[in-house]
Amino acid sequence: MRVVFGPGALGSLRAETERLGLQRVLVLCTPGQRALADRAAALLAERAVGVFAEARMHVPVTTVAAAARAARAAEADGCAAVGGGSTVGLAKALALRHGLAVVAVPTTYAGSEMTPIWGLTENARKQTGRDRAVLPRTVLYDPELTRALPVPVSVTSGLNAMAHAVEALYAPDGSPVVAAMAEQGVRDLAVALPAIADRPDDLDARAAALQGAWLCGACLGATTMGLHHKLCHVLGGLLDLPHAETHAVMLPYVAAFDLPAAPEARAALARALGADDPAAALACLAERLGAPRTLRGLGVRHEDLGRVADEVLAAPYANPRPVGRAELDELLERAWSGT
Ligand code: NAD
Repeated sequence: MRVVFGPGALGSLRAETERLGLQRVLVLCTPGQRALADRAAALLAERAVGVFAEARMHVPVTTVAAAARAARAAEADGCAAVGGGSTVGLAKALALRHGLAVVAVPTTYAGSEMTPIWGLTENARKQTGRDRAVLPRTVLYDPELTRALPVPVSVTSGLNAMAHAVEALYAPDGSPVVAAMAEQGVRDLAVALPAIADRPDDLDARAAALQGAWLCGACLGATTMGLHHKLCHVLGGLLDLPHAETHAVMLPYVAAFDLPAAPEARAALARALGADDPAAALACLAERLGAPRTLRGLGVRHEDLGRVADEVLAAPYANPRPVGRAELDELLERAWSGT
């Protein structure tokens, strides 16, 4: 993938689509980001064929169908996803099912633009898969665009990104390159997020967080995730919990469980976080940032924890430490109550 990084990167959108040979670009966004998408369309000038402003969380197939109709009607040969993981997710679905080329302009720290992972939701079930066809051709990282990202969303999407790096550090298909990216990604975000919480307008902090998101997203794209992502996927699907907030809650608990069995990952995180006990440091960071800290706080009922454990145990996944029923029940209990 080609990456253009830096304040003002959005200004090269037209040149970048030209470089890809795209003539008719449909701009995608969520309803809340219409003004920015209109700006992107204005920059594209005659190469813009419209704005589809109905991207939604979890990529419902009905939204994909509506976007595909808009793309067909406008004879689009590409799309520009201006937004967070939800908007990039819609663009990926259009690439997967309708062959549209994607240019991504991320405005959160979720990192989806760096991965070949797609997701689609139909009849309340989210299906995910990996396909290189969904990778954006070009990604424009412009920290200016994240200045307006509210602090709570900045914090939770940043912790979501960190979770990709944490699990990449003990993934079965990790490598020294991935480990280096993961360590730096965690370091970038650990420094940037508190600065953003204090000064949301700080462009240097926004740039550092976006760089961290880039690195952490690349780690997610390159490796197989473990217990943390499995738990968050099940919690989100079964109980309809918000994606980034669920990651923010679970990360310190899963790290506390897994890191004793993953000494190299533990050492890398200790270096990145500047702390002897990385799991405790992640908990302190989440606390300091005002992130959600418990499943109870996200509205999970205690009686639902058993169903979550059942589903997590039903299908195997990679993890550095074996997870039995008793360990999983204890982990969920702690994450629910905040122990
Ligand atoms: P999001 O895209 O849903 O955005 C959250 C909210 O923030 C939206 O209302 C959006 O309009 C608003 N917003 C976004 N950028 C803004 C900005 N700069 N200023 C003001 N408001 C802004 O949330 P997200 O956390 O970026 O993405 C979550 C989704 O991404 C989930 O569905 C998740 O499954 C997916 N995801 C996928 C991958 C992957 O590799 N496929 C990776 C990470 C996340």
